[in-house]
Amino acid sequence: MPTREHIDQKPTSEQRSELAAQDTRDDDDRVATTPNGAYTGGYAYHELDEDGELVCGGHSDGRFVEVTRAEAKRTGKTPCGKCEWLLELQTESSTSD
Ligand SMILES: [Zn+2]
Repeated sequence: MPTREHIDQKPTSEQRSELAAQDTRDDDDRVATTPNGAYTGGYAYHELDEDGELVCGGHSDGRFVEVTRAEAKRTGKTPCGKCEWLLELQTESSTSD
């Protein structure tokens, strides 16, 4: 099974669905993504912080739309690696072990 380290280019749809399948977080979470077919060609979905901003930076206004994680997966999006990484750092620093 490919891991993110092996993907340095835009992932194929097959890789996207595998990465999405590995995302076991709550399907009801709100995430931000770009609409399919948008000129930006976005394929990732981003986590939102408590202010509704993208965890990896930037604003969710404008070209991003909020959907549930389940919806993002269903439309062929893949979790944003930078968001995941940043959230992992937060989780590690907030637990004692
Ligand atoms: Zn992100």
